[in-house]
Amino acid sequence: MKRRETKYLIVGGGLAGTILARTMEKYGQDFILVDNPGKSNSSRIAGGMFNPVLFRTLGKTWQADEIIPFAHGFYPEFEKELNQKIYFPRKLVRILNQDEKAKWAEASKENDFLDPEIKSYFSQDIVLQPYGGAAINQAGNIDVKLMIESYHHYLKKQDRLKLGGVHCEDLAIHSNGVSWKNIHAEKIIFCEGFLVENNPWFSFAPLKPAKGDVLLIHAPQLKTEHIINKKVWIVPLGNDYYKAGATYRWDDRTETTRQDTLDEIITSLEKFLNVPYTILDHQAAVRPTVGDRRPLIGHHPEFESLLIFNGMGSKGVMLAPYFADHFLQYLTGKREEIMERVDVRRFQRTWDKNKGE
Ligand SMILES: Cc1cc2nc3c(=O)[nH]c(=O)nc-3n(C[C@H](O)[C@H](O)[C@H](O)COP(=O)(O)OP(=O)(O)OC[C@H]3O[C@@H](n4cnc5c(N)ncnc54)[C@H](O)[C@@H]3O)c2cc1C
Repeated sequence: MKRRETKYLIVGGGLAGTILARTMEKYGQDFILVDNPGKSNSSRIAGGMFNPVLFRTLGKTWQADEIIPFAHGFYPEFEKELNQKIYFPRKLVRILNQDEKAKWAEASKENDFLDPEIKSYFSQDIVLQPYGGAAINQAGNIDVKLMIESYHHYLKKQDRLKLGGVHCEDLAIHSNGVSWKNIHAEKIIFCEGFLVENNPWFSFAPLKPAKGDVLLIHAPQLKTEHIINKKVWIVPLGNDYYKAGATYRWDDRTETTRQDTLDEIITSLEKFLNVPYTILDHQAAVRPTVGDRRPLIGHHPEFESLLIFNGMGSKGVMLAPYFADHFLQYLTGKREEIMERVDVRRFQRTWDKNKGE
């Protein structure tokens, strides 16, 4: 097999690896992406929403003022390049409870992502909303699966995508980079989702994976283009199909569906959805959530050629474009440091402590 040289070998082609690859392309960097689709499916089943509001506090999500405008620039441009409809800016309507209704007006003075108007966005015989609903500005959703498939198709044609699993025992670390099979790369960047827990170099980062289930439903009488949120969410997919989810389980690292989570989604839906629907599919996957809920980006504490871009948790759609750009600025020398809050070396002490074991 002919030896191939590249600057970056990206391992994992979910949302994180795919957006990193796309950003590398924008920065004119040389890379090969290796993906083993099906090993972890968080990106492929995700709701794909971006929502800059924390409903618990009605405040903004972390860094939302920078991250949200960035996402609204990134996805339409990517959509154009892919020639596929993947970007759906739309209203996200929160079905309010009594407490939220009381706090909304005040909170909207502080948080410009909250539309101050409270009203009935739906007729009561379709969606129950005794306290009305209110919209989140600048929300929307991405067709993540289509984005990944379309970009991988494009990369395949350019011979920049390899299918298969990278096993750490097949990697050799040299003074000038790493090699895997016939590929030699200056740097390898792991984007393995929650499977990073099996990676001997980066498992020191404290992942707290969160399994989630989603349903594909058909609800011909719902007729809405809005995302609906009340404990669970409903995202329109077109032609009366919707995604509905999601659950959180912290004690299960399998991607098999569960009856208790199915029941949980149905119970939540039935509290507000007042029209019949049919469940067509039920899927589950594991989110790569970090103990401190911030991404994991940057160099291994000891091996400079090993890097990571992971830990997007439940907000990969919003976080990945902004932090891929941040990472590329760093990798190309346009910025000196990776933001401390996301730098994987914030957990260096765990690596130092465990490496002798
Ligand atoms: C039910 C559910 C709903 C969600 N809804 C939303 C939402 O609405 N909005 C949002 O922002 N986020 C949502 N998320 C979270 C979002 O899915 C994640 O933030 C994001 O997808 C993580 O992407 P990732 O690429 O890091 O991981 P993954 O999607 O797990 O991708 C990792 C990829 O790497 C491959 N891989 C792993 N190890 C190797 C290896 N050694 N060699 C080769 N390939 C490898 C895997 O097979 C996979 O293709 C949701 C998640 C779930 C489970």
